[in-house]
Amino acid sequence: MLLRLLLCCMLATIAPSALAMTLYKSTDANGVVFFSDRQTPGAQAFVIQERRVEPVRPPLLQRPPASYPRQAYRYPLPWRGGPFRLSQGPNGSFSHTDAKSRYAMDIAMPEGTPIIAARSGVVVKTENEQIGRGNDASGNFVRVQHDDGTQGVYLHLKQGSVNVRVGQRVAVGSPLGLSGNTGNSSGPHLHFVVQQSTAAGLVSIPYEFNQPVGVLPNFALGN
Ligand SMILES: [Zn+2]
Repeated sequence: MLLRLLLCCMLATIAPSALAMTLYKSTDANGVVFFSDRQTPGAQAFVIQERRVEPVRPPLLQRPPASYPRQAYRYPLPWRGGPFRLSQGPNGSFSHTDAKSRYAMDIAMPEGTPIIAARSGVVVKTENEQIGRGNDASGNFVRVQHDDGTQGVYLHLKQGSVNVRVGQRVAVGSPLGLSGNTGNSSGPHLHFVVQQSTAAGLVSIPYEFNQPVGVLPNFALGN
């Protein structure tokens, strides 16, 4: 124990200043081991190399995804009818790849399906005149600002079907328009996204429906 303690102390004092050093080990009459940097008769020589110690680096972390407070609000399905299937989910490689649409969900449904507000708020923007692909990838849409500042956006609606106006307050279940296939849409569907305003502009944030999409019980079959 003493030996170890001595050695540790010496290493601690010597190591920072020397790359290599010779120490001499001797034992006295009482059996106590000494180390010295001076050679004495009968001493055993040790060459102590200072080890090059790699600096400790924190483990490489992947850039953490932007953190959003988990939304307590669960969105009721924003349509009447169905069940319909999710055709593209969050991070979908087809078009849910940028900040504005990363957490969007696409639900395939026949054109003309009633689209209803999934959360109450105030309509802040609409588009109702686009035909087909048009000039805006969103097609016809309704943007609703919720009371917590987030916005729900209902895209690709049928031309002429939007029946709310900017400034109008909507409740959960209020009709907004009819689903369509306008803008950058490869088939009739609703693109529903929740967005938040940030310094970098509007970004989509994760949300959850209050029930699974497309797996509603099929009452007709008694399941
Ligand atoms: Zn989409």
